[in-house]
Amino acid sequence: MKRPGLLTQILVAFVIAIVLGAIVGPSIEVVQPLGDLFLRMIQFIIVPLILSTLVVGVAGTGNIKKLGRMGGKTILYYLVTSAIAITIGLGIGFAFQPGSGVDIPTESIGEEPVAEEQNVIETLLNIIPQNPFQALVEGETLQIIFFALFIGIAISLVGEKAQTVYRFFEGFAEVMYKITGIVIQLAPIGVFGLIAPVVGEYGIGVLLPLLKVILGVLVACLLHAVITYSIVVKSFGKISPLVFFKGIAPAGLFAFSSASSAGTLPLTMKNSQENLGVTQKTSSCVLPLGATINMDGTAIYQGVAVLFIAQFYGIELSVSQLLSVVLIATLASIGTAGIPGAGMIMLTLVLTNIGLPLEGIALIAGVDRILDMFRTSINVIGDAAGAVLVDRTEKNHTEDQELEHSLNA
Ligand code: ASP
Repeated sequence: MKRPGLLTQILVAFVIAIVLGAIVGPSIEVVQPLGDLFLRMIQFIIVPLILSTLVVGVAGTGNIKKLGRMGGKTILYYLVTSAIAITIGLGIGFAFQPGSGVDIPTESIGEEPVAEEQNVIETLLNIIPQNPFQALVEGETLQIIFFALFIGIAISLVGEKAQTVYRFFEGFAEVMYKITGIVIQLAPIGVFGLIAPVVGEYGIGVLLPLLKVILGVLVACLLHAVITYSIVVKSFGKISPLVFFKGIAPAGLFAFSSASSAGTLPLTMKNSQENLGVTQKTSSCVLPLGATINMDGTAIYQGVAVLFIAQFYGIELSVSQLLSVVLIATLASIGTAGIPGAGMIMLTLVLTNIGLPLEGIALIAGVDRILDMFRTSINVIGDAAGAVLVDRTEKNHTEDQELEHSLNA
């Protein structure tokens, strides 16, 4: 008999956890170590995964000097759309209030959870590590992202002589992808160990908010696609949004079922070139970089998830904390690898940075695979919208230059 797919396994584990939790009650907490095992496993991947995949993602785009304006434009597009995506995610988090109405006594998560205020300028300055190795040891993820981006840029500036370093990180990234794949296979056990004790303690009602989270992420993804991408492809790309969405649909659907934007990359490139008229030159620069650092769907998910967890534990976030969420989640989405489950791993980073309880992951984990399908489609569609924008504006630039040339001649 064929082994059921991961999604089925997770859903089965989820249902068993709910049923057992409801029947057994609080003493089901004996299975908690299974959940903790899974949480620790995902935490242990973060540092090496971000370091290796980001270095390869940036260095792999080829000669950055040559990419010049195109590279700059691509990165700017990625940053701006990711920030918009998180803002939409937060907006929906406020509108849907997925985590409110559940009364989780704060003592259940240890000491009183007060999300620490951190001044925005301090947060920004703190991104630069005084000692990158210390940042690695202490798991200072934003500093690690900074370090990795710089290594990547420098590798491509050095060129030939840095090939050994590049190959090292490339192999290392492959190894980390493999480890992540193995860890994600443990998700059914983790989901069981995380959900059963929560249901056992608080009853089934505690899960209702999860439906709102799923709905919230779905609505935010649709809004981002319909508004942001339509504007991008129509005003900069000069193609009708309908043509765009139809052209990229195969990649979007593949992303939906595989939950991996890196795995979808070949199809994203094919669709962009064949259906959206993006040149090979643009697509081979913009799309691999996008599959590594541009994760609008993941950013949306983080916005909704952060608010859900804050509301769930009754923690008010101040305006400056919300701004920090936009900043940190943008960086976290950059550091997210294009493989299944990576977004949830990076969510731990956002939670820790703004002082929210990590246990919030316990609830999200149960439905994460479903959220992953939505967000990965958006990640891929966002990359393609970026390719269309860069391609068309580059063409116009070249045409303008040619015109200027012939006028001057
Ligand atoms: N699975 C997503 C992707 O491949 C990343 C994530 O988990 O958010 O794009």
